[in-house]
Amino acid sequence: MRRLSILGSTGSIGKQTLEVVRKAPSDFTVEALTCGSDIDTLFDQIKEFRPKVCSVENPSKAKELSQKLKDSGIDSEVLTGKEGNIACACIDSCDTVVGAIVGFAGLEPVYHAILNGKDIALANKETLVAGGDVIMPLIREKGVSMLPIDSEHSAIWQCLKGEDRDDLDRILITASGGPFRGKSRKDLENVTVEDALHHPTWNMGGKITIDSATMMNKGLEIIEAHHLYGIDCCRIDVVVHPQSVIHSMIRLKDGSVLAQMGKPSMVLPIEVALYYPRRGPSIVSEFDPFDAAMANLTFEPCDTDVFRLVKLAYDAGTKGGLVPTVMNAANESAVRAFLAGKIGFLGIEKTVFETVAKMEPLVGGLELTIDAICQTDKEARIRADEIIDGIIKT
Ligand code: NDP
Ligand code: MG
Repeated sequence: MRRLSILGSTGSIGKQTLEVVRKAPSDFTVEALTCGSDIDTLFDQIKEFRPKVCSVENPSKAKELSQKLKDSGIDSEVLTGKEGNIACACIDSCDTVVGAIVGFAGLEPVYHAILNGKDIALANKETLVAGGDVIMPLIREKGVSMLPIDSEHSAIWQCLKGEDRDDLDRILITASGGPFRGKSRKDLENVTVEDALHHPTWNMGGKITIDSATMMNKGLEIIEAHHLYGIDCCRIDVVVHPQSVIHSMIRLKDGSVLAQMGKPSMVLPIEVALYYPRRGPSIVSEFDPFDAAMANLTFEPCDTDVFRLVKLAYDAGTKGGLVPTVMNAANESAVRAFLAGKIGFLGIEKTVFETVAKMEPLVGGLELTIDAICQTDKEARIRADEIIDGIIKT
C-alpha cells in the first residue's frame, strides 16, 4: 500500500492520480492534498478522500476552506503558503509524494520530501529542469525512488527495465508536434492563445499546453530525461509522432529499438509509477491495434528552425549548471504573459532567448545548491519581466 501526499491535487495530473486511487482504494491512502487556490475542487476531494492535512497556497482561500470544512464537520487541518506545501510533502504518515504542482513552485516541496526519505512520483518536470543536478544526487544519497510520471519518461523507464544501462545507445523521445506542427515562422506570428491551447492529442493544464505549442515542452523533457537516465542531451533525439501512440523509444548498443505504446492518457503512466515495481489493475480502456487511430503511425523530425526553443534547451541542457534554471524561469514568466494576452506567441521565445543571453554569464561560476537555484529562479524572472515590459511597449 502506498500512502500518498498529492501536491497539486486539483490540477490535471492531480485529478488523474485520484482517479487511480478511486479505482483501487485498498492499494492507497491519501494523507495530504494541496492546491494553489481552487478550494472548491479541493473541498470535494477532501470530502471524498479524507486526508489528515491539506494546504492552499493562497492564504485567504486557505482561511475560507478551513471555515467550510469546520461547517461541514470535517477535521482535516488546513495549512497555507510555501511552508504548507512543504509540510504536506514531509508528513510522517506518507511514504510517497506525487509532485503534480506546475512550475518551479513544485521544486522545494519535492526537495524537502526527499530529505525526509519519501519516494517521489514526479510529473513536475520543471523540478528536474531547474534543479536536477541537486535533486538526483539527493535521491541517490537518501536511497529513495524517483518514479517518473511524464509519459515519455515512463515509457523510457519501462523500456529500460531489465536492460544494462551501459547498453543504452540513444533515447528517441516522441512528441505530438503540438497544434502548430508544420507551421512556418510567419504562420506563428499571429496565432492566438485559443489556437495555442487547442492541443491535438493531450488534454492538460494551461502551462504545459502552451509549452507543447512552442515545443519547449520537448526541450524541458530532453533535460528531464538527461537527469533521470544519466544520458547526455546530445544522445536524445526528438521524433515527432503526431498520433501520440508510441510514448518514446530507446535504442540499444546492438541496434535494437524498444518502444512503449498506448492511448494518449496520463492515467497509465501515473499508475505505473504508483505500483512500481509491480503492475496495477487494468484501469484505462484496452489498447486495440486495429483501431482506426492506429492505422497510420508516422514519424518526422522536429523543425528546430521553426521551434527554436528546442535548440535552446539542447544548448542549456548541455551547458548545465544554472543555465537551465534561468531558461525555465524565463519560460514560465513568458508563458504567463502570453496567457494573459500581454505578449504574442513568438514573444515567448524572444523572452526566453534574451533572458538566457543576459544571465548566462552571471550564473556561470556559481556553486549549485538549492539556495542558488531558488535565487537564480527569482533573478531570472525579474529579467524576463523586464524583457516582457520592453516587448509590451514596442
Ligand atoms: P495544472 O495547471 O492542471 O495543475 C497544477 C496544479 O498545481 C493545480 O493543482 C494547482 O492548484 C497547483 N498549483 C499551482 N501553483 C501552485 C503553488 N504555488 N502551490 C501549490 N499548488 C500550486 O497542471 P498539470 O496537472 O497539467 O501539470 C502539472 C505538472 O505535471 C506540470 O509540471 C506539467 O509539466 C507536468 N505534466 C503534466 C502532464 C499533463 O498531462 N497534464 C503530462 C506530463 C507532465 P490550483 O488548481 O488551485 O491552481
Ligand atoms: Mg510528456
